[in-house]
Amino acid sequence: AAAKLEENDPTAIALGYKADASKVDAKKYPAYKVGNTCANCTQYTAKAGAASGPCGAFGGKDVAAKGWCMAWVKKA
Ligand code: SF4
Repeated sequence: AAAKLEENDPTAIALGYKADASKVDAKKYPAYKVGNTCANCTQYTAKAGAASGPCGAFGGKDVAAKGWCMAWVKKA
């Protein structure tokens, strides 16, 4: 399995990644909308229903399905 992306990874900090999207600071990240998570982000390539999976924005490291970061883009 790919390495897990830790919240304290410098690249994760740079993009405001949280493994639990409900912990995102909405004041600091006004782009965040409730309901937007890695699971419905175009960068996320895990199987449906998986708790975590690879993210293209972080070099394929594993991110949490319930996570979020500034690079979120709705999965087509
Ligand atoms: Fe999650 Fe998308 Fe950010 Fe990757 S780019 S950490 S899948 S929100």
